[in-house]
Amino acid sequence: MTAESKRKATNRSQFIAIDAVHRQPLACKFPEVILILLLFGPPGCGKGTQAVFLAERFHIPAISTGEMFRAERQAGTELGKRASSIMAQGGLVGDDIVNAMVASRISRPDCAGGFLLDGYPRTVQQAIEFSALLQQKGLPNPLVIHLDVPDDLLVARLTARRQCPQCKRIYNLLSQPPKVAGQCDDDGAALIAREDDQEAVIRQRLRAYHELTGPILQWYGASAVHSVDGGMPPDQVARAIALVVEAAER
Ligand SMILES: [Zn+2]
Repeated sequence: MTAESKRKATNRSQFIAIDAVHRQPLACKFPEVILILLLFGPPGCGKGTQAVFLAERFHIPAISTGEMFRAERQAGTELGKRASSIMAQGGLVGDDIVNAMVASRISRPDCAGGFLLDGYPRTVQQAIEFSALLQQKGLPNPLVIHLDVPDDLLVARLTARRQCPQCKRIYNLLSQPPKVAGQCDDDGAALIAREDDQEAVIRQRLRAYHELTGPILQWYGASAVHSVDGGMPPDQVARAIALVVEAAER
């Protein structure tokens, strides 16, 4: 361990200890501890669960593009209006708008200590732009985490998904069943299997994912991409990712 990495590790532990006592975002007090995580993984790999875990574990916000779009639209910003009108016409929101939203979002104070992006970059062009943005802001290179799960395992998991139509909570008959069969734990509503959790639809989504994500991971390069076996139980996946992050910080 170098003096530099020791100092970083000390700051990280202080950060967590103080934060646990005061429940305040202290990221700005230790600006040298900046953790930028990019989380890639196929649909159904438990990426959302891991994003929440990583956000809590490393005290950074987990930012998904879907939430970013909704927030911009609700706030009625210029970007939000442009995105809404494109989507209303059935078009795809271009890289320029997505990149601008990310740039705006990561400039917010809660991102001072770092952040996790889930669902971005979605194209090689976005990855290039994002890299330029980080450089321009003097931020470190992102840590790229790839949750690797065989397609057949994902199909088995996804066809076992059920959703609450009221609160939108997702269950899985294999890994996260409701307490009472067929009923939402929170509001008792009858759970449903969504149209897009049918096998043919899932296979199509997986093909699209591989076509989209393969080139991005290639662009970052094998030495920058940390593949984690996403087929393990969620707590083991979480531990494996935490080890990758901690190793990278040293
Ligand atoms: Zn519910």
